[in-house]
Amino acid sequence: MTPLLLDQLRHICGPANVLTHDAPATDLSPWEQDWRKRVTGRALAVVRPGNTAEVAAVVKACAATGTAIVPQGGNTGLVVGGVPDNSGTQILLSLTRMNAVRAVDPANLTITVEAGCVLQNLQAAAENAGFLFPLSLGAEGSCTIGGNLGTNAGGTQVVRYGNTRELCLGLEVVTAQGDIWHGLSGLRKDNTGYDLRNLMIGSEGTLGIITAATMKLYPQPAAQLTAWAAVPSMEAAVQLLGLAHQRLGPGLTGFEVMGQFALSLVDKHYPQLRVPLWQDTPWCVLLENSDSENEQHARSQFEGLLEAAMDSGCVSDAVVAENLSQAKGLWHIRETITLAQAQEGLNIKHDISIPVSRIPDFVAETDALLAREVPGVRMVDFGHLGDGNLHYNVQAPEGVDGKAFLRENEDKVNTLVFDQVKRFDGSISAEHGVGELKAGKLPLYKDPTALAMMRAVKQALDPQNLLNPGRVLPLP
Ligand SMILES: Cc1cc2nc3c(=O)[nH]c(=O)nc-3n(C[C@H](O)[C@H](O)[C@H](O)COP(=O)(O)OP(=O)(O)OC[C@H]3O[C@@H](n4cnc5c(N)ncnc54)[C@H](O)[C@@H]3O)c2cc1C
Repeated sequence: MTPLLLDQLRHICGPANVLTHDAPATDLSPWEQDWRKRVTGRALAVVRPGNTAEVAAVVKACAATGTAIVPQGGNTGLVVGGVPDNSGTQILLSLTRMNAVRAVDPANLTITVEAGCVLQNLQAAAENAGFLFPLSLGAEGSCTIGGNLGTNAGGTQVVRYGNTRELCLGLEVVTAQGDIWHGLSGLRKDNTGYDLRNLMIGSEGTLGIITAATMKLYPQPAAQLTAWAAVPSMEAAVQLLGLAHQRLGPGLTGFEVMGQFALSLVDKHYPQLRVPLWQDTPWCVLLENSDSENEQHARSQFEGLLEAAMDSGCVSDAVVAENLSQAKGLWHIRETITLAQAQEGLNIKHDISIPVSRIPDFVAETDALLAREVPGVRMVDFGHLGDGNLHYNVQAPEGVDGKAFLRENEDKVNTLVFDQVKRFDGSISAEHGVGELKAGKLPLYKDPTALAMMRAVKQALDPQNLLNPGRVLPLP
């Protein structure tokens, strides 16, 4: 059956777009290994269709032979969702050849792109048409809009524009049976039944394969200003967020928090970046104000906010970027934390969300519990505080080997942190998704009725369990 299937796939996509291990000198590791290098799977073949009809034909051929399919975009996902397992029986379906911008509709404020379009290229296409596509994240040079939709990615602009879900108006999807759902609507209103678009978004390739999407466009802001503020505590950071909402309204487009240890790692591993204000304060905050009037208006609003914050004691010191290049430099420091922590060694990562008002108590209590249970751990805390999303990462004590630390402590630390998240009414995955990494945790932390409904949806749409099996929902 396998050679027959491979022949069919070659016939559908062309021989050059069906890569297998048999061919000499073929390295499939870019598709088989996850971004964090935690897992290396083995695919039966990497298949690279060039259009929606080819995707549908590939799925039909796989469905007829009971062959599982793992969709993949830029392979930057952080929860082991887009790589094959190690059985050698799954098809890795890479969407990256499908990267065209199909249409821009300026009057409707929409852009329609294929799933494999790299996020940075989508941002550039929007800009060339005179608009803003606001989704922005550290992996934007490699991740694709199909992957962003598959994971409902968040990023740095959520406080103003929402997650990828809020930016999407329509989808084109190939179902598990190989049928095409033509749902590329640019409608902002459509109450004709169940919301299939939102069902697909965030389903991590387990319910259908997204082949194209219609996304919202926004006017470009007239001015954008960035500030970096030292705050004396997490309570003060939350207070500053409230003030920023009040004073900037919809102008508040970014609100990131960074702990002192996280910034010390940037200072240690990337000293050329010159991290400001971090030495004398437990937390720093990065704020962005996007203004629809002009730079002068934005600056006076921003300065008013910072003055009020200093008067009330929630900011101890602050700098406002003088120009775009300084602003980019400040954002670059924030984005470098991920790389700096990797330089320091492996750590135990948590991408969690908690109601903003409860974050100070969560951090104080959980830090204390961890210090008691695993003495010496160092907390790499940073994240999108404006959305209640923390990257709450636990680094090995100084001088302790990261691998050994993970081996001995990962389960214990995860349980401690996730139990705390549950106690604080939070989520164990804020923006990265579930993938394989957290699939086993869902039965412990997700509402049982919600989980039962999720299983029913999966059974209805993919009864053969061929689309990304074992991801999101654990295998039975
Ligand atoms: C440095 C760095 C910074 C990051 N910052 C953020 C951040 O701020 N916010 C955030 O949310 N994430 C972040 N991420 C995680 C990652 O970039 C996102 O999850 C991104 O959306 C994944 O896109 P991708 O194209 O790489 O998808 P992949 O990794 O290829 O796939 C991710 C998941 O989506 C599924 N999928 C992919 N394409 C499709 C499709 N066409 N149809 C259906 N399912 C599909 C896959 O099967 C898999 O389950 C970051 C990652 C890195 C490496």
